[in-house]
Amino acid sequence: MKILFAVLIIIAVAAAVCVIRAARLKAKPSGNAEHKKEFDDDTAVDRFCEILRKKTVWPRNGEFDRDEFDSFLPLLKSLYPAAFETLEVNTINNYGILLRWKGKNPEAKPFVLMAHYDVVSVDESKWNYPPFGAEIHDGKIYARGSVDTKCIISAEMEAVTYLLSKGFAPESDIWFSFTNNEETGGDTTPAVVEFFKANGIDPRFVLDEGGAIVNSPELGVKDDLAMIGVCEKGICDTVVTAEAKPGHSSTPMPGDSPDLLADCIAKIRKIHFRPRLEPVVRDMLKGIGAYCPFYLRLAIANMWLFAPVIKLVMKNFGESNAVMRTTICLTQLKGSDTINVIPATSQAGYSVRIAPWDSVDKVLGIIRKAVGKKATVEAEYSFEPSPVSDYKCAEFDLLKNTINSVYPQVGVSTMIMTGGTDSKHFARISKNVYRFAGFRFSGENIAGMHGNNESLDVQAYLDGIDFYIELIRNFNTGV
Ligand SMILES: [Zn+2]
Repeated sequence: MKILFAVLIIIAVAAAVCVIRAARLKAKPSGNAEHKKEFDDDTAVDRFCEILRKKTVWPRNGEFDRDEFDSFLPLLKSLYPAAFETLEVNTINNYGILLRWKGKNPEAKPFVLMAHYDVVSVDESKWNYPPFGAEIHDGKIYARGSVDTKCIISAEMEAVTYLLSKGFAPESDIWFSFTNNEETGGDTTPAVVEFFKANGIDPRFVLDEGGAIVNSPELGVKDDLAMIGVCEKGICDTVVTAEAKPGHSSTPMPGDSPDLLADCIAKIRKIHFRPRLEPVVRDMLKGIGAYCPFYLRLAIANMWLFAPVIKLVMKNFGESNAVMRTTICLTQLKGSDTINVIPATSQAGYSVRIAPWDSVDKVLGIIRKAVGKKATVEAEYSFEPSPVSDYKCAEFDLLKNTINSVYPQVGVSTMIMTGGTDSKHFARISKNVYRFAGFRFSGENIAGMHGNNESLDVQAYLDGIDFYIELIRNFNTGV
């Protein structure tokens, strides 16, 4: 009887502790008051639209439209003359635009603001409005690149212009790196990083695209949350090739190349990378957890007890599943061009996204082991996962505090990026690389990125200018 009583007491205490911890995780309003809108020049939208009308599609292979790229920097200069009177202009690999706003203190470590002005191609027939027309309908600007990422470039140039008009001068150098071939994994940003290294420039803080203020991220969150990418998964585009004697399809034999490949695919399907709640995943969960429904908050606040339950829940959401494990996705199959010919070569292509704790070699080793001698396994393109940036430091707080002051009602969380950005190259020279665009992106805005009818709300664009004004101002105070 006494033992039963003691057990009941222990269970009651444990339950109370869990509930208290969950209550502590509840979201607190991050700012005190509404942010006072500072920027009120609506003509900024016209300038943004001019930038959006440039068809800066950088193809993976083949020719690009030289006129569109040649005229991009001159367009920026004509739209933001005051900024370009002050900014020092460098070009990298002809089309990479690297601007320097010289600081007063040559000893202070510089800040870097990144974006790209190339955009992915469009299927014009599926758009409701011309993709490079930058037409405004129902308060939204429709154009390819409106979200990804010309909004960053134009908002930053507006911020520079505005701050100059107020007599602002930065303490440290501020570099703006606007690249021309991010979407195709081009060589401009690596060359920018080499330029930094060659000139002994050691960035204190780097900010690129990636996260943003998003509505209803996964796990039952209903609020807007500012998601800051602190690392990104690696990539391994893996090709599995089976080879055997070709022949006529009327006399098939086991062991021809499609048969071997089918075996390999079945084996690879059985590979499951274990989900892991590493510290960077746990911290992301804690950031989001404050806004989750109570049952999830209870679990997240008590991960020591509920880690298996959390993993089970996360498995049901695409993005959440992908942040806690390496994923492997079959995307391509190649066989015979003719239906009645057994090909000598059959190939399967896998898009593998590598969690920060795994590596390219480890992933290839696992796939090779599964396939055995039946096929060869090669990486067509690979990139290791980025290191996890420091997010318990003054530089991260500077970004977080800027978000809190411009968007006071919005919570802030770290996140693991499942997609790639050019900032991974900067991770080689800075431990403070963050991925966040200072805008509020609706679900519709995000769906349009790389899709059809990409759009950004006019108000979201104008608010973003306030964000970059505040951010640059905070570089001076280091809050
Ligand atoms: Zn992008």
